[in-house]
Amino acid sequence: MANQSVEILHGVGPALAGKLADYGVRSLQDLLFHLPLRYQDRTRITPIATAREGDDIVVEGDVMAADVVFGRRRSLVVRLQDGSGTLTLRFFHFSAAQKNNLSCGTRLRCFGQARRGSSGIEMYHPEYRQVLDEDSPVDTSLTPIYPTTSGIGQSQWRKLCAQAVARLEGEEVHELLPPNERYPYELTRALHYLHAPPPDAPLEQLREGRHPAQLRLALEELVAHNLSLCRLRENQQREGAPALPSQPQQLDAFFAALPFNPTGAQRRVLSEIAADLAKPLPMMRLVQGDVGSGKTLVAAGAALQAICNGYQVALMAPTEILAEQHRHNFQQWFEPLGITMEWLSGRSKGKRRARALARMVSGEASLVIGTHALFQDDVEFSRLGLVVVDEQHRFGVHQRLALTRKSSPEEGQPHQLIMTATPIPRTLSMVAYADLDVSIIDELPPGRSPVGTALIDSSRRAEVVNRVAAACAEGRQAYWVCTLIEESDTLQAQAAEATATELQQALPALRIGLVHGRLKPAEKELVMSAFKSGEVSLLVATTVIEVGVDVANASLMVIENPERLGLAQLHQLRGRVGRGEQASHCVLLYQSPLSANGRQRLSVLRESTDGFYIAEKDLQQRGPGEVLGTRQTGLMEFRIAELPAHNHLLDDVQSISDTIRQTRPELAEPLITRWTGSRQHFAKV
Ligand code: ADP
Ligand code: MG
Repeated sequence: MANQSVEILHGVGPALAGKLADYGVRSLQDLLFHLPLRYQDRTRITPIATAREGDDIVVEGDVMAADVVFGRRRSLVVRLQDGSGTLTLRFFHFSAAQKNNLSCGTRLRCFGQARRGSSGIEMYHPEYRQVLDEDSPVDTSLTPIYPTTSGIGQSQWRKLCAQAVARLEGEEVHELLPPNERYPYELTRALHYLHAPPPDAPLEQLREGRHPAQLRLALEELVAHNLSLCRLRENQQREGAPALPSQPQQLDAFFAALPFNPTGAQRRVLSEIAADLAKPLPMMRLVQGDVGSGKTLVAAGAALQAICNGYQVALMAPTEILAEQHRHNFQQWFEPLGITMEWLSGRSKGKRRARALARMVSGEASLVIGTHALFQDDVEFSRLGLVVVDEQHRFGVHQRLALTRKSSPEEGQPHQLIMTATPIPRTLSMVAYADLDVSIIDELPPGRSPVGTALIDSSRRAEVVNRVAAACAEGRQAYWVCTLIEESDTLQAQAAEATATELQQALPALRIGLVHGRLKPAEKELVMSAFKSGEVSLLVATTVIEVGVDVANASLMVIENPERLGLAQLHQLRGRVGRGEQASHCVLLYQSPLSANGRQRLSVLRESTDGFYIAEKDLQQRGPGEVLGTRQTGLMEFRIAELPAHNHLLDDVQSISDTIRQTRPELAEPLITRWTGSRQHFAKV
């Protein structure tokens, strides 16, 4: 029955069926798995005298008075009494007919939120209806509130889902998970329960997602999600990729020319990559390395292997500043080796852009470095062998995959190397990156000193300014980072400009530079190189410097309003200092008053410089969408599962998913369809 169309249900005509289909609901099964977001309790009538502020309740009573009151706003005020007490209903929008229907003595049943008003307990715009017959029944189950889209009302969802659930009685929807003793709740029963919980259901537990019925379904959803990522990987593996054997001599020559020795961790990760590239299957490897661990060098080693095998490499960075920095590094490293490079950013225009595109499609450019501009439609390569995505958390899955389709079909898929400094807690990576192999650079280059971090109240701003002046007077360099929650480049730029002006007034002798997202690339480059050369001592910046900027002599960073940012992002910013020999410091200049919670959150940074620990804390406090970056959230939109609330399910998720893939692979497809429905395009790209 599960695959029957919703059109067989009562009340579903072509128009509604069309709207449902647009929303991804086509079959009865889709309806069954369209699960409520929350519940209202309309199963009992609350005596007015016991109504508590904030509760959503049903009350029933007689109208004592209904008057139009002309206060600040014209409103209809109705007094209702039920023998235990009286309550006021307020309507700010009402019709004459409505007022006339609420005459004295009319018996009403109302549903709404109890609030405290000038006359005691009140309800604003309650749902209400006249009670004609003394004992007309109340609801027999909690009222589900469904996720919805414009044009489909709650009552429609309720009617549709109730019909789908009613049909569950006869023919069962298939149980697809292997039996699990820890979560034995039966599927049919769980669906039943969650669409229509009984009057005595534990609302609190349901709200927190801890009910066994919810756990059972969340487990299945996470398994389905994991399976869909595994399938994505299998599909890519089926395509094949060019085998690019390792080039130890070239790599040794490259290393020998460096001013330092690669760390053990860098060598290990590179050899993992080298082995992947040598296979005729597309590598899909995620390299995690804390900020400053030297991921760029690892990318260079991988690129060298592909290029020496006669293939092209695309390196994509999320910001112009970072792409620019990579261009600079790779020029120094690769030009002596005779490797040709190209550059493409959103601001490459006209002839420059045309020339770059021509050199890419002809194969003349072996290494192409750029921003998002690299996955635009008219960008083509001749023999793309490797795609490197830096700071992956800034991109979505789609963008990453769009780039892998840039190779010509007969070559197969390019290999993929994904790099991130946002350490993904193991639990989360199981769901978010189940399609990737993971390498970890767990060692920093030698000679780094940990950054000391202080929390300072913004009322002591003048002291901090003096500290910056003192550091710069000793020949050191500093960052002053301005934060805003708004994504708007313009507002951020204005805030940074204002700060730069103010600091320049306070410290007239100091050479201050300013960098933000609104500057032209040439201007940015000028400021950055002046800071690199030491000409500029203090760099006032927006969070554009979050990734990539690398100036070893900078040893002090002030971050204004750090309470606005996530911990992982602050850690990343802080990683701009502590790159040289001298002791480095980071001042978190917070706006007081700071909540106890906010203080505790920022203290995590004072206590630790371990990106993994910090990310784990961030995950606990803010959820996966934030940790992975907002662009990834599409991936993490679950119907019922919630992370980190359901973290404890993840170990079972992994083992169930493994069992299914090894012993019951035919179950994967129906599980994925059931849970991802119309979102399957994710897994198919
Ligand atoms: P991230 O992992 O944050 O991308 P980078 O690749 O930008 O780090 O490297 C940070 C800095 O460390 C750069 O200046 C780089 O040249 C330097 N570096 C990388 N590897 C080593 C090493 N093995 N020894 C010393 N310095 C290194
Ligand atoms: Mg980097």
